[in-house]
Amino acid sequence: MSLQVVQPRIRGFISLSAHPDGCAANVREQVEVIERARLEGSLGTVLVIGSTTGYGLASALVACFGYGAKTLGVGFEKAPEGGKTGTAGWYNAAEASRLAAEQGRTYCTINGDAFSDEVKREVVDALRAMGPADTVIYSLAAPRRRDPDGTVWNSALKPIGEAYHGRAFDLRNETVTEASIEAATPEEIEATVKVMGGEDWLAWMRLLSDEGLIAPGARAIAYSYIGPEVSAPIYRRGTIGKAKEHLEQTAPEVDALMRAHGGAAWVSVNKSVVTQASSAIPAVPLYMSVAFRVMKAQGVHEGVIEQIVRLFKDHAGPGREPATDEQGRIRLDDREMADSVQTVVAESWDRISTETMSELADWDGYKRDFQKLFGFGVDGIDYDQPSEVDRPLNAGA
Ligand code: NAD
Repeated sequence: MSLQVVQPRIRGFISLSAHPDGCAANVREQVEVIERARLEGSLGTVLVIGSTTGYGLASALVACFGYGAKTLGVGFEKAPEGGKTGTAGWYNAAEASRLAAEQGRTYCTINGDAFSDEVKREVVDALRAMGPADTVIYSLAAPRRRDPDGTVWNSALKPIGEAYHGRAFDLRNETVTEASIEAATPEEIEATVKVMGGEDWLAWMRLLSDEGLIAPGARAIAYSYIGPEVSAPIYRRGTIGKAKEHLEQTAPEVDALMRAHGGAAWVSVNKSVVTQASSAIPAVPLYMSVAFRVMKAQGVHEGVIEQIVRLFKDHAGPGREPATDEQGRIRLDDREMADSVQTVVAESWDRISTETMSELADWDGYKRDFQKLFGFGVDGIDYDQPSEVDRPLNAGA
């Protein structure tokens, strides 16, 4: 037991603390959205790689609470220790597991480096007990990768070819600035593709196939992002875009492997949402706060859980056949990329400055979403009260 009053300690796009009760309330809010969606059918076992925050967390929650799946997740989180809180993802997974146990469901998280052989073996052992996977979601957003031989690859968020000079938002003093980011070196491009490209996804799926842990008819899905022209120099045409291109080019190989089990694989291109990963990409928080204002005004805004409910309900859930674009990708970003949204975003982008922020961007909404990621600013939580910071990752563990 360790009761503490937990205060936010947010520095730019990272938070040094997380509120256990706030994170738990966020998880319960997502589960309520899932319950209201009344998803039909069931899934036996679902594996989510990158399951503790963002799109992966939403996917694991939909699997467990929407389709009754025995759900196994992999995340890389810090446990609470020596008076310090754990990371938000720790508390998210802890609450999901607690709630699942209360409802007689199975939700288990393996905490460790998904690139490592050790964690891959742990997952294999766990799936042997749970049953082969009917759905595998790959939702890693990692800053680095350590190969089994000790080589470390650090991803970079940089433009390719020429330097980026453009708008960005300085999170510390909340002003619109002109940012300059040097073009990536060939080594930085290669490292980013190693970390965020398709190699590790394919390695996971080959391993599961070799171990007989892919159920007949199983589906594999990895998440990607494209985004609009305003963020393209830094995103789609940058190092991360190269990695996503590689991920998408890997999909046919994963698909061929899944077809041998009567299944299939896809990349799902999701909309931009406020997560720890997306907040770290230069210019993207500013773009999101402009786009969200437009999408909210047009009544087409969605958060992570609405996106993933739609992914399963319309495309990847039991008995559904995904609708895809001409490149075979599922497009959950259709509403964000609609001309009706992007035309207004482009006009706003041309006029955005510190002075016009409150008129053209939903910066307050962005900040609320960002603090919420760490369990702060959540309705119904009394932040003056102490919260139990020592929570087990897996209920009953
Ligand atoms: P996130 O930061 O919220 O989640 C990343 C997850 O990966 C966490 O569970 C984290 O613990 C886990 N992780 C990171 N490194 C790991 C490691 N070495 N071993 C095990 N687990 C590790 O990120 P997100 O924004 O939800 O991104 C997930 C995927 O969705 C990414 O592929 C991203 O490109 C894609 N996506 C994100 C957005 C967006 O706007 N956020 C939009 C479209 C697609």
